[in-house]
Amino acid sequence: MASVLPRQVDVAIIGAGIIGMSTAWALAKAGVRVAVFEKGVIAGEQSSRNWGWIRTVGRDHKELPLAMRAIDLWKDIQSQHDVGYRQTGVAYLAESQSDMDGYRKWLDKAEPLGVPAQLLARDQLPDLFKSRSERNWIGALHCPVDGVAEPERATHAIAKLAIAAGAQVFEQTAVRCLDQSGGRTSGIVTERGRVAADAVVLAGGAWSRLFCGNTGVSFPQLKVHASVLRTTPVDAGLDLAINGKDFTCRKRADGGYSVSQLGASVADLTPDSIRLCRQFFPAWLSEKKYLKLRVGRRFLDELMMPTRFGAQGPTPFEAYRTLDPAPGMKSIGVALDKLKQAFPEFQSAQVAHAWAGFIDVTPDAIPVISGVESVPGFYLASGFSGHGFGIGPAAGALMADLVQGNTPLVDPHAFRLSKYERP
Ligand SMILES: Cc1cc2nc3c(=O)[nH]c(=O)nc-3n(C[C@H](O)[C@H](O)[C@H](O)COP(=O)(O)OP(=O)(O)OC[C@H]3O[C@@H](n4cnc5c(N)ncnc54)[C@H](O)[C@@H]3O)c2cc1C
Repeated sequence: MASVLPRQVDVAIIGAGIIGMSTAWALAKAGVRVAVFEKGVIAGEQSSRNWGWIRTVGRDHKELPLAMRAIDLWKDIQSQHDVGYRQTGVAYLAESQSDMDGYRKWLDKAEPLGVPAQLLARDQLPDLFKSRSERNWIGALHCPVDGVAEPERATHAIAKLAIAAGAQVFEQTAVRCLDQSGGRTSGIVTERGRVAADAVVLAGGAWSRLFCGNTGVSFPQLKVHASVLRTTPVDAGLDLAINGKDFTCRKRADGGYSVSQLGASVADLTPDSIRLCRQFFPAWLSEKKYLKLRVGRRFLDELMMPTRFGAQGPTPFEAYRTLDPAPGMKSIGVALDKLKQAFPEFQSAQVAHAWAGFIDVTPDAIPVISGVESVPGFYLASGFSGHGFGIGPAAGALMADLVQGNTPLVDPHAFRLSKYERP
């Protein structure tokens, strides 16, 4: 890891999650002088806490071109460092005809984009999982090229690749604010001093809205609390990642399984959720089956958090080095029980560890990967809404293209920040 801050780089990146590190890797490979500044540690927040799914299945169609391009990059990463990437396949199981109808609708739009997913009937399910299931699944949506990787390893491996290509990475180095002169971005101010840069990429995960707000840029983003558990090693005969509706599981490299459920997500009421309620209301309506609303301490914590700060004093980015919320044991315990009921081979599995993270969400659950028109030289790659691990390497490559003015990897139109501007 680098120690002495550079005085000047071509591109400064804020945040060493999978998005910041993938952007740095792509830029460094192109010979760009790039440095990443992280207030805590590499992958301390969402990027090491996720389920580890790399899927096309169930994704918003606008993200599918990125998801397909990400597969090649995951293969490339795995060929250089063992991040546990395997194309195990991902299956969304169906218990009702209406589940199957929903999957059919999704598939009709995904197939023309080259996604090799398929609908499987009940009698094809034994080919998917070796273990017997007690649940009456009537079929599944399955994509054989989808897979998994180990979140605890992946971003660190991408950081190694970026550093080997010439990038510099600074941990424990919060970026306080953007430096601007003559109406454009001229660098950043960190807690350890200024760094001049022609372009700045904000890949700040759940912190991006706060940083943007202080820069005078409106970014509609909220945080959703999500919990996961890891089981002790178990020989359950399930290699692919499965969404069983009231549980999800994927096999880990350590022999255990990461288990959760979509319903293990909690949206805390915060001052931002009130400010943004008009923009997020449609999303909340469509997700309310999976999302619990909670009123608690976070309202006061966020109310007390300064929203304007300058270069001189400490900022919230220094006060909160790593978001490490406590997991909701009840909901993930239910998920493990449901998994055990569905697949009795899991009966001996114990909870080895549980954790939580804050997922950063946007109103349409699509990330922003875009230049910020009102602040030339400032770019945003954030709001990955619970899907950023799988597409992370491709999202970083796309961001790098935009910064360099190259032909973009995929059409970036769906990811522009300006779509949230009010008419
Ligand atoms: C429980 C859970 C399960 C998930 N499951 C999946 C899954 O299976 N598949 C999938 O594709 N996605 C999944 N996701 C989503 C995925 O993890 C995220 O979309 C992705 O990791 C986002 O990466 P990021 O780099 O944008 O953010 P992060 O990993 O959160 O990184 C942002 C970094 O920026 C730093 N930072 C912020 N502000 C500053 C500042 N001012 N100065 C310096 N540093 C700063 C933060 O400290 C942080 O390290 C899941 C997420 C969670 C929480």
